[in-house]
Amino acid sequence: MKVDIEKLQKIVGKEHVSDNIADLYAYSSDASVHQALPTVVVRPKTIEEVQEIVKYANKKKIPVIPRGAGSGTSGHAVPIDGGIVLDMKRMNRILQIEPADMLVKVEPGVVDDDLNRTLKPYGLFYPPAPASSRIATIGGEIAANASGVRSVKYGATRDYVMGMKVVLADGSLVNLGANTRVHSSGYQLERLIVGSEGTLGIVVEATMRIYPLPKYRCLGVANFDKLEDAGNTISEIISSGAQPSMLELMDGIGIIAVNKALDLGLKEVGAIILFEADGNVKEAVEYEIKKMKDICEKYNGYDIEMSYDAKERQRIFGGRKKLFASLSKYQEGIICTDLADDMGVPNSKIAECAKKIHEIAEKNNVIMAVYGHCGSGVIHTKIMLDPKTQSQWDDADHVIEQLYDYVHSVGGVTSAEHGIGLSKAPAWKKARKDILPMMRAIKKALDPNNILNPHKLMDAPDDWIHATELRYRVGV
Ligand SMILES: Cc1cc2nc3c(=O)[nH]c(=O)nc-3n(C[C@H](O)[C@H](O)[C@H](O)COP(=O)(O)OP(=O)(O)OC[C@H]3O[C@@H](n4cnc5c(N)ncnc54)[C@H](O)[C@@H]3O)c2cc1C
Repeated sequence: MKVDIEKLQKIVGKEHVSDNIADLYAYSSDASVHQALPTVVVRPKTIEEVQEIVKYANKKKIPVIPRGAGSGTSGHAVPIDGGIVLDMKRMNRILQIEPADMLVKVEPGVVDDDLNRTLKPYGLFYPPAPASSRIATIGGEIAANASGVRSVKYGATRDYVMGMKVVLADGSLVNLGANTRVHSSGYQLERLIVGSEGTLGIVVEATMRIYPLPKYRCLGVANFDKLEDAGNTISEIISSGAQPSMLELMDGIGIIAVNKALDLGLKEVGAIILFEADGNVKEAVEYEIKKMKDICEKYNGYDIEMSYDAKERQRIFGGRKKLFASLSKYQEGIICTDLADDMGVPNSKIAECAKKIHEIAEKNNVIMAVYGHCGSGVIHTKIMLDPKTQSQWDDADHVIEQLYDYVHSVGGVTSAEHGIGLSKAPAWKKARKDILPMMRAIKKALDPNNILNPHKLMDAPDDWIHATELRYRVGV
């Protein structure tokens, strides 16, 4: 693909444009299994620079792939058609903190944890916090509608978006939403950008809602011999009207993996549940925590530990926080892939879905851990397989299809918070044929030349195994 490197250098400065093969390689993948080289990497600093780059790309019909930290697990920042990867991390200023209006204005490259560190002295916080908050950017979180351990009480990124500035495919700038907490002034276009995975516009500024930091947090952990009991506990905690600020599940496979990776010495039981309550009145927090503890006990939960102490809470949560990175240690010779990693199911189906995942894994000769923010219905999995055996990739493909069929049959979703991107697209497209024409019409109206992150979501290729290089290639 022909790209005028000098033109791009004139826009952002020579040092912020690279077609050096080492850089292209570094930007060829995210946290998924996919890999494809971009033509060039460009790092803009201002809105005007983004506009200039996009105007040029639109005229020449060159793909533009916005990118935050590249921590996405669905391949949505992978430049499947080459083109310009637009690294947004230099646009990382916190522009305004407005406690009186309970909002912040930020550039898209601000890292989630950095925002929270800055808000803390004000007694405020930005709740969505995905487990990747140490690196994930606000722009990437908006584009993926990220959420995290606190979503059970505080919701997902979409619940925090008040407004945003977006550069459209023709390079024009639009100002969506408002500084008010609610608005009913026309289409909620700021919401349309949420979850759009960089396919409809480039977020160059965001106005986000913030919350007061709660004074008290109490975290508990309970052991279960049976995964099913743990799943039913979660469903009952939610339906009982209790208000957890965190409700996490981790199965026995996850426990073995973190023990192997981190030498934590956790008891290797069928599952653990982490439950937390927060608030400004200690008695109210205690009331919620006791309610959850009682339900754990009703479903045979035991060895229950609880603490208000920040360090102790960190220790209790340590294994769950590092689970993702630990899973490849579960068994020699296998790797952990981000395929079918992010289902959402109705509250009453948690135990059934967890059991189904283990059944499907066994039937297809792969290993799958079950964990996640199950209080919000988010069930994370990882397909763990031997990457050097060709048939294991086909096994993974069958798992994705069977699992997605099941999840849709119970009214669930195939991505609760990570996005569709590439590998999750084929089975999702098959199941959601009803909405694809509407999505394609929106895309065509906003990006007629199909330059913004092309061939993702509804336009992703059906054959994900051969659509890009797989990072864990057979025979390597
Ligand atoms: C260890 C680990 C744990 C994780 N835990 C969670 C979790 O708990 N919850 C969760 O939701 N996710 C989680 N994720 C997934 C990932 O971190 C999130 O999807 C995150 O929002 C991605 O942010 P990013 O800055 O890395 O974006 P990228 O991965 O760089 O990009 C993601 C998408 O956003 C688009 N994009 C980026 N910036 C912009 C912009 N300025 N304008 C328009 N589009 C843009 C990209 O084109 C791409 O489609 C995890 C990932 C890892 C590796």
